[in-house]
Amino acid sequence: MIFNATGIGARDLLNDREVYPTRGDLVYVRAHAGFEVPFEIMQHMAFYGEAGTHYAFPRHGELVLGGSFVEGDSSLEIRRDACEEILASFNRFYGLKAK
Ligand SMILES: Cc1cc2nc3c(=O)[nH]c(=O)nc-3n(C[C@H](O)[C@H](O)[C@H](O)COP(=O)(O)OP(=O)(O)OC[C@H]3O[C@@H](n4cnc5c(N)ncnc54)[C@H](O)[C@@H]3O)c2cc1C
Repeated sequence: MIFNATGIGARDLLNDREVYPTRGDLVYVRAHAGFEVPFEIMQHMAFYGEAGTHYAFPRHGELVLGGSFVEGDSSLEIRRDACEEILASFNRFYGLKAK
């Protein structure tokens, strides 16, 4: 039995035109020493903002903030405007100042 688990690669590998990419931008915010995850984030790790669903995942020493959801976009380039929108939405919702 052979499994094809090539993700978006299946589009070309098997000429499957029903497979399409979806882009998701993430922003990593480095936390300063002694940083404690704000109560607001523990309460609401995900919320629906102006540009779609946003979320904040605390990790050791950093926060992972997301995200965008752009169907049909397979570009791997870093997009500053998307990152700034995620930060702005995060700041608006939580009333915090991440830069
Ligand atoms: C920004 C972002 C955030 C996400 N967050 C979450 C989340 O919080 N929770 C969650 O559950 N999911 C999340 N996902 C989705 C999750 O990443 C995917 O659903 C998951 O990675 C799919 O796994 P997969 O093994 O099917 O495919 P992939 O992880 O895409 O792996 C496919 C592999 O096949 C290889 N490949 C492709 N073509 C070939 C070929 N011709 N020959 C050999 N190898 C090939 C590729 O190099 C790759 O290693 C997120 C996705 C994005 C983009």
